[in-house]
Amino acid sequence: MERMDTNGATDGSVNRGSLEFQDRKQVLIIGTGKYSRCATGLALAHGLKKAGIPFLIFEKEDSPIRKRSWSVGLHWGFEPLQHLIPAELLAQVKTAQVDPNVTTENSDRVPLINGKTGALLTEIKSDKFYRLRHDKFRALLLQGLDVQWGKALVDMEYSSAGDVLTVKFSDGTEVTGSILVATDGPHSTVRSLLVGEEAAKVTPIDFASTMCYTTHTREHALFLRAQPHHPICQAGPHPDGYCAWLSLHDGDDVEHPENWTFFHYISFPEARDQVNTRTMREHVAHQKELARRFADPWRSVFEWMPDDSEVWYSKLRDWDPSLPEHQWDNRQGRVTLAGDAAHPMTFQRSQGLNHSLQDAYNVCQAIESFWNHGHFTVEQRAVAVDDYEKEMITRTGKEVRLSEQSTVTMHNWSMIMNSPLMVKGLAVEK
Ligand SMILES: Cc1cc2nc3c(=O)[nH]c(=O)nc-3n(C[C@H](O)[C@H](O)[C@H](O)COP(=O)(O)OP(=O)(O)OC[C@H]3O[C@@H](n4cnc5c(N)ncnc54)[C@H](O)[C@@H]3O)c2cc1C
Repeated sequence: MERMDTNGATDGSVNRGSLEFQDRKQVLIIGTGKYSRCATGLALAHGLKKAGIPFLIFEKEDSPIRKRSWSVGLHWGFEPLQHLIPAELLAQVKTAQVDPNVTTENSDRVPLINGKTGALLTEIKSDKFYRLRHDKFRALLLQGLDVQWGKALVDMEYSSAGDVLTVKFSDGTEVTGSILVATDGPHSTVRSLLVGEEAAKVTPIDFASTMCYTTHTREHALFLRAQPHHPICQAGPHPDGYCAWLSLHDGDDVEHPENWTFFHYISFPEARDQVNTRTMREHVAHQKELARRFADPWRSVFEWMPDDSEVWYSKLRDWDPSLPEHQWDNRQGRVTLAGDAAHPMTFQRSQGLNHSLQDAYNVCQAIESFWNHGHFTVEQRAVAVDDYEKEMITRTGKEVRLSEQSTVTMHNWSMIMNSPLMVKGLAVEK
């Protein structure tokens, strides 16, 4: 097998529990963000670079170009992000917004509208709410990083001395490191290797959604931006047990509304074990039918959507890292999880990216705590990674449950005013 060791670290054998400087291997990061998502692995890589810690970053996709992108709300996660990425990149975050011309303020609010009547229910509180387009955010984070593309991790092996692990890729290559941080997303291979395939599976819940992206005539596009409560995004729970969303996806071409793209969906109840066999056209027809129950802007945006639109159906799922059957052995701190690899959650509380950035910051701090002292022992690494995981699992386990509760209550009118989204806004529970 070909051996990769690009930072030139030596292969010294270690069995004394103490790794001298020349024995240390680089940090390995797996996963940079699919479908123009991103964040965890790339943000961590920037943090390690800032700290002068050698690393290698791998991604199974062949190139950074992806067809599918969506937008996400970055709010409290801006705080950890600013410690990880260089100042010149941080200054560009606003350019990665769906409309770079809309300023973000500390008083930002996301309107929650009665989907049936169009009346404002409440404004969800948030810190500065950056509505980021994933592909732009990812391109920003890729600057200054050397990603190895087309590298799909398939297996891991641990040295008997307890010092290193070797990661194996589907192309037959392998690489050795002192620690692997797996940021390989909601269906993480590393999670499967750690807890077993069955236990690693995401758990479907009783809701699904169909994501739609549309462009419109100039007149219609202007109408969709001219909503009384927000020009960029709004959520619309419906008393019949549905929840709609509409946001701008691409407003870069300020002068030409006919070039703007909008992102919208209506999520709906669907039994967790039901296999959805709708065709693409049937998904579109289903969304249009649901939209007829709604007031504007949803009624119109779905009515204007062409019948042959390409849409993206998805069952809502999560994975709670705090469950006893989900505990993993980090092999004396040699392997850990971060981001969606550790805690895929439903998106109706807008938290996944924000927690992922907190993970990236925390695991970076953990690595710095044992890396920068000339030498480190296996025990020091084990303690640092245990501490990182303890905090991460508690924080994000709570969030996985809160997000699921938000999804459930957003589809149940009698419970909606007690939804975690209403009660807590977008603030994190620490
Ligand atoms: C519709 C929607 C709306 C959302 N809205 C919000 C929001 O408003 N606010 C918010 O905070 N969050 C939101 N989220 C969640 C957010 O998008 C995710 O939490 C975040 O993108 C997770 O990033 P990640 O880097 O951990 O994982 P990913 O982006 O999934 O990246 C994982 C990467 O690992 C790679 N990979 C997988 N397996 C392997 C392997 N074996 N070897 C090598 N590479 C591998 C994949 O190709 C991928 O590139 C939303 C999610 C969705 C779906």
